[in-house]
Amino acid sequence: MHGELVALPTETVYGLAADASNEAAVGKIFEAKGRPSYNPLICHVSSLEMAEQFVDLSSTAKRLIAAFWPGPLTLVCTVRESCTVARSVMAGLSTLAVRCPDNKITREIITRLDRPVAAPSANISGKLSPTTAMAVWHSIGDRVPLIIDDGPTDCGIESTIVAVDHDRLTLLRPGTITVDELSDATGLDVLDRDDKTISAPGQLASHYAPEANVILNQETSSGHVFIGFGALKGDFNLSPNGDLREAAHNLFETLRKADKTGRKTIAIAPIPSKGIGIAINDRLKRAAAPRNSDRETENTND
Ligand code: AMP
Ligand code: MG
Repeated sequence: MHGELVALPTETVYGLAADASNEAAVGKIFEAKGRPSYNPLICHVSSLEMAEQFVDLSSTAKRLIAAFWPGPLTLVCTVRESCTVARSVMAGLSTLAVRCPDNKITREIITRLDRPVAAPSANISGKLSPTTAMAVWHSIGDRVPLIIDDGPTDCGIESTIVAVDHDRLTLLRPGTITVDELSDATGLDVLDRDDKTISAPGQLASHYAPEANVILNQETSSGHVFIGFGALKGDFNLSPNGDLREAAHNLFETLRKADKTGRKTIAIAPIPSKGIGIAINDRLKRAAAPRNSDRETENTND
């Protein structure tokens, strides 16, 4: 990577990647995105063995890895003293987020580099996440020398993030791997981050925001551009069959298309808050949140 940025495909959204061990290269990620330095990055690895060089993996963490890697699950674990990842990746925390992406090209790149890459979503901070190479191009194409195009991403929303402290699991961000699936794989309850015992920096109240205003739980268009779900047809529809996995896959690209209509407000149909719908509603709530300055809108426990 020679200290440069590369936009990489993953199964969740496209990532803006740099060699995680190279402080200057990681700095370019924060600069290109306009990302606040208190918001830590996820380290992408190609195997459990690579992750274990940097963080302590409890037996519970290993069970989750066996069940879900490669895949859209990020584990936040305690950093090892010998960890060579750039300090800015952790944003001053004593934990590191690690994930093994389910994309052959990206895994091959990490394997050949023989080091993790730090990679947040390849968009300007706070805006819609890119699920196609073209969306990366439109968002930060002028700031990244190479974009690798592997077609539209599969999941369409960012990974599930879970903090693993020995056998204590805390959900930091919902995703397409659900709390029930995490419990089934481990036999453990998953705590909600509302219990305030764990820091989840960077979970800003306003995030994933299109240019237009967003209003949620609408049954009709009321003159706005309308994103439907299931039988509520709309100008666009996240999933005519009411399939939540399909709705997640389509979410950001549909918001982008609705935004392109140039209308002032995007109205969105209700999405059931169960299973993957919890992750979709998490993103929609942030897309609809008031857009004050970053620090003012930060809310680590909402
Ligand atoms: P993204 O912007 O999709 O790359 O999201 C990364 C998110 O992961 C951050 O905003 C944090 O909420 C979370 N995260 C990353 N590293 C840590 C960590 N060490 N502890 C807690 N949360 C983390
Ligand atoms: Mg992001």
